[in-house]
Amino acid sequence: MNLQRIEIAGAIHGPHLLILAGVHGDEYEPIAAVRRLAETIDSRQLRGTVTLVPIANHPAFVSRSRTGSDRLDLARTFPGFRHGKPTEQIAFAANELIEEADFLIDLHTGGLAMEISPLVGYMLVSDAATLETQRQMAAAFGLPIIWGTSARLEGRSLSAARDANVPAIYAEWGGGGGCNPDGVAAYVQGCLQVMAAFKMIADLPATIDVDRYVIEDDRDASGHLQINYPAPVAGYYEASAALDTMIVPGDELGRIYDPQTLHPTPICATQRGRLITRRVLPAVDVGDCLAVILEDPAERGAFDE
Ligand SMILES: [Zn+2]
Repeated sequence: MNLQRIEIAGAIHGPHLLILAGVHGDEYEPIAAVRRLAETIDSRQLRGTVTLVPIANHPAFVSRSRTGSDRLDLARTFPGFRHGKPTEQIAFAANELIEEADFLIDLHTGGLAMEISPLVGYMLVSDAATLETQRQMAAAFGLPIIWGTSARLEGRSLSAARDANVPAIYAEWGGGGGCNPDGVAAYVQGCLQVMAAFKMIADLPATIDVDRYVIEDDRDASGHLQINYPAPVAGYYEASAALDTMIVPGDELGRIYDPQTLHPTPICATQRGRLITRRVLPAVDVGDCLAVILEDPAERGAFDE
């Protein structure tokens, strides 16, 4: 299988940047941003090549869902199989694109169920030069939170990039359905700023400096969003804590109500840090992720030791 993609070959020889959108089929700002980039990037002014994948997981997009009908999460399926299930074939094709690229940007959102603070992340890979390039890409992208996490997570586009030694970042912005034009604009700007940092395009006008919150956390499961605050019961969830607030243990994050008896089950924080993800789709099953708190390992050490 071949992934639908748009290749923009610049007039001047230079690096090859791959930008992925639609790895999850219910994340719309990335898809819109890639279309806008296709309209914006002028091959006559471009040094190098940009490959744009508007919707990596087309079956999931058609299903209006994170995954396609085989229910495999593409972001857990890399490097995939040439003759596997549909999602495995997509992962295999995307993996080939990653291996051909010099840099990767993978754009995401919280999807229909979750809302995520704008952030850019990368793996804390062992190769020092690659790690440094990833830090530069993350800083250039220009979102308020920069999050370096474990390089031991598997199945991601970023683990495929790690194995091919291709510097890679991913980004998150909002979610909850729909397509927020602010998120689209932030993604277009972020990708162009990374291109400018690599001299693929001319320098952009300086933007207002955002307040940066930089965390590098090398614990094993850091960066694995879906395992945090699993719902203990099924029901109707109402989040109470707002995104980006600072949370301490015991703070109430929200409540799951039994939809028939209205009996509430409070969900309380066990960590100290910044609330960066919360569930916005009210219907929950047991085990659904309700929240993610970004702990600062340096600060946690100061309290624990
Ligand atoms: Zn995603």
